[in-house]
Amino acid sequence: MAGETPRVRSLLGTAEFVYAACLFAVAVVTVSVATQATGDPLAGQSPALALFFVLFGLFTISTGYHTPSGAHVSFDRVAQISCILVLGPVAAAWVNGLASLLYPWHRMASGRPWPQVLGASLHNAGLMALLSLVAGSLYLWAGGQVPLLALDANVLPALLLLLITMQLLNDLAMLLDSWISGGKLYWPFNGFVISVEGASALTALLVALVFNRMELPVVVLMLVVLATGLLALTQFARMRTHLEELVNERTRRLREQADELERQATRDQLTALYNRRFADRFLEEGVRDFVRQGRAFAIALLDLDHFKRINDHHSHQVGDEVLCRVAALLLENCRGTDMVARFGGEEFLICFPNTDLERAARACEHLRAALEHTDWSDIAPGLAVTLCAGVAQMRPGFDRSRLLREADQRLYAAKDAGRNRVEVDLAS
Ligand code: GH3
Ligand code: MG
Ligand code: MG
Repeated sequence: MAGETPRVRSLLGTAEFVYAACLFAVAVVTVSVATQATGDPLAGQSPALALFFVLFGLFTISTGYHTPSGAHVSFDRVAQISCILVLGPVAAAWVNGLASLLYPWHRMASGRPWPQVLGASLHNAGLMALLSLVAGSLYLWAGGQVPLLALDANVLPALLLLLITMQLLNDLAMLLDSWISGGKLYWPFNGFVISVEGASALTALLVALVFNRMELPVVVLMLVVLATGLLALTQFARMRTHLEELVNERTRRLREQADELERQATRDQLTALYNRRFADRFLEEGVRDFVRQGRAFAIALLDLDHFKRINDHHSHQVGDEVLCRVAALLLENCRGTDMVARFGGEEFLICFPNTDLERAARACEHLRAALEHTDWSDIAPGLAVTLCAGVAQMRPGFDRSRLLREADQRLYAAKDAGRNRVEVDLAS
């Protein structure tokens, strides 16, 4: 696979990967030092118990899902906190770290590049190991009990400290992570995510208490009930997410259709300029703004000269092409605030809001000259296209039809005067 090696190298070189590798290295050193200091991390407990918590951890991580808003929700806190309360912080650091190290590798099956999976694996393992060690040690320091056997008053503050530290450190790490990867900043204060994390933490207390105090069949029953509940909840959440995505997709498509319908209702099919319907509304608004606020409003009616001859001498197709090019030329040479419409066959209307007659006339003169000097040899040798324009502006006592009539009269005056001209209603 050519190109694979540079891609791998570039993935391994990202800030995200370097951060993950450093976090993992710091975690391994710290947890190893803590292990040396405390001696047997399992404190006489069976290694099978550690293995169980690795598997339990893997199961709870796999119950995670992404919400459409981009937040990630999972119940892994249940396994992580109960592991601390059953095995203690040092063993939990190894166990929770190992579960997080193993979990991302299933993504290889869906084609993720291995450096990306390795990065996620190292990052999650390093973070979970350090989180378990720090939060668990704080818990012990605050008078917490391992294994947790009762919810007595002197253990409660330590438990509270454990739950809060776990969540806070996790959120801080996620924030840092999103900042380093340069993506959207992770915002931890999402009500839904906080309630899932809170419920998971409380469930973890229950799991630890049952684990530490009940006989095996009760523990197994609890685990089966819990696992079933988590699976059902995850399934339900995924269905909801799917539904939300479906609704979003449908809404997007409906919006597109509405936009297209709006476009069709307001645009001319051939030239894509505004159509007469839209132009009439625009005219109405310009007239109203003049009447209410005295805002200047000028218009121009433009008509191509001897267009019938172009159709007759060349072809209707050439005529169509000329109309499209004239439309593009008008748009190119007008301001964004001007409104250019195809008003009839080879007739165009331009509205110039906030513009006086003189400026509108100058704009039309510029358009006239640009059209006169356009080279048409690529579509029909010998073809020349010119236009006439009648320019008028709103005056007191005018309404829309009076304004249009003024422009129309100027247009015909231009035709009478020999065509290829701009006429202005300076007389009125
Ligand atoms: P004048 O200089 O007096 O305006 O002459 P004219 O030939 O431009 O005016 P007239 O009104 O006699 O003819 C307009 C022509 O425009 C007639 C019609 O066939 C043509 N026309 C109108 N709409 C279209 C169109 O969509 N495509 C094409 N190719 N021609 C069109
Ligand atoms: Mg005409
Ligand atoms: Mg014409």
